[in-house]
Amino acid sequence: MRVYIYDTTLRDGSQGEGVNFSLQDKLLLTRRLDEMGIDFIEGGYPLSNPKDAEYFRAVRELPLRHARVCAFGMTRKKQTDVTADVGLQALLAAATPIVTIVGKTWDYHVTHVLGTTLDENLRMIAESVAYCRQAGREVLYDAEHFFDGYRANPDYALRTLQAAAEAGAATLILCDTNGGSLPEQIAEIVQAVRRHLDLPLGIHCHNDGDLAVANTLAAVRAGVRHVQGTINGIGERCGNADLISIIANLALKYRYEVLQPDRLQRLTELSRYVYELANMNFRPNQPFVGHSAFAHKGGMHTHAVARDPATYEHIDPALVGNERRILVSELSGHSTILTKTVKHRLHHDKALLSRILNQVQDLENMGYEFEAAEASFDLLVKKTAGTYRPWFERLAYRVNVEHGPDAAPVTEATVKIRVGGQIEHTVSEGDGPVNALDAALRKALAPYYPRLQEMQLVDYKVRVVNGRAGTAARVRVVIESRDAQDVWGTVGVSENIIEASWLALVDSIEYKLFKDADAASPTDTANPTETDRPTTATAPTQAANPTDAANPTATTGPTAATAPTDAANPTATATAPAAPLATP
Ligand SMILES: [Zn+2]
Repeated sequence: MRVYIYDTTLRDGSQGEGVNFSLQDKLLLTRRLDEMGIDFIEGGYPLSNPKDAEYFRAVRELPLRHARVCAFGMTRKKQTDVTADVGLQALLAAATPIVTIVGKTWDYHVTHVLGTTLDENLRMIAESVAYCRQAGREVLYDAEHFFDGYRANPDYALRTLQAAAEAGAATLILCDTNGGSLPEQIAEIVQAVRRHLDLPLGIHCHNDGDLAVANTLAAVRAGVRHVQGTINGIGERCGNADLISIIANLALKYRYEVLQPDRLQRLTELSRYVYELANMNFRPNQPFVGHSAFAHKGGMHTHAVARDPATYEHIDPALVGNERRILVSELSGHSTILTKTVKHRLHHDKALLSRILNQVQDLENMGYEFEAAEASFDLLVKKTAGTYRPWFERLAYRVNVEHGPDAAPVTEATVKIRVGGQIEHTVSEGDGPVNALDAALRKALAPYYPRLQEMQLVDYKVRVVNGRAGTAARVRVVIESRDAQDVWGTVGVSENIIEASWLALVDSIEYKLFKDADAASPTDTANPTETDRPTTATAPTQAANPTDAANPTATTGPTAATAPTDAANPTATATAPAAPLATP
């Protein structure tokens, strides 16, 4: 039996303290949720801010495969005609197939917060739902404070649902807005509603009693088939119901059908992606997906788990994409590394895998995280495997910030690199140090690698990472970049924020260059376009671009027919001359 998952991370989740998604973040997360097989994505509240309105314009261009996007709004204002209600107009202007309308259930709220009569509230619900139905929308009705309202005045609470149902709502969502209900109360009230109404029901719980997941599961067991929540339970106060735990329990414990087939293994990845996007720290002890959720420490447990994991684990961690970690014997990470290196066709090389694993562990101890930086991980694999060659060499960089008494600060970056046998020395201004460095670096590289113009930096996040006791604090910079085909993340860690940014920036550019080189046809390597420095790789894509041939700095010696990367590393030619390694 299927349970439909409604994600409100972008709307209710963004109400959480310290959570702030950019427009780009919201679109990226929408794609991720769609790939997972989430059924409904609540994109925002179009009346609340221009960013949400812009989101609804942009989301129409996304090629979503499964999910349906919903806009959120409220019932019309009291004593206002629906056609004159700005909220409803903004809701319809979002042009989503589905709208979610929230209305009041609790008589006390109607009289004391809305300041209107109980009858007017029923008209507000009915007219708002009917108006959106007439405009061709599917309407989901969120009954705010349903459980508190039902306890206070069950007849009136049911009449509000009836009003929404008769006006054409497709699903009625019962909300535990204050988050204080208990599982048996939820179950009892859901059953009572089902005796009165024959319409699909949904559940929306908050976590103020630390029971949002339990309350949601109780509602499902009582007959609800539509579940609302947020990834990692982010949301205001103590958060919303955590969809991660809900999905895992529904699928693995109760055997309901949720998500698209085979997506459950990506739950851990999704959880960590959202933490990175929201710029929040992971919760190590988070059930199912936390770093410590399947970590075993201490001899006896470790031995038992090694013999039979079921002795100390409630599920196989691989089912949700997590992994078992045996803390004492340092075997952690092997399975992740293994899955991540499969695309590099290196998984048969046990010694190499061990070296990669050691590298990852060392870097993680320094504060690196690769969950949102797959591109940096790819480069790390290349470096460890010996198939990496730098595309340019850094000689120096400098960043200056000047701040006059009245003027805004001006940032200027100077970059000196060796590329294609030449020394390039460029300077650029930018909005801040990273932007200026990025601009100067690209100015230096543009004549050699014109396809870098296709890529842009879409996001930049900084986090202070707690070093081990006694070490200076470090910062981790995560950069998200994109071109027409892909989005990729890179990471840099340093005690200096500019250096951390530089590392992430260089990884991002090198990843793009490797990606394009790998995608280029093998015949390009036969092209005599060549540099005179064996340490500097030539991008095969360059040869295809006539402007490079005309650029004397790009080519010096047409004699060498083989790319220097291959010559310096005979193992790379054995697999594929032009594309030594496949990248995603
Ligand atoms: Zn809520």
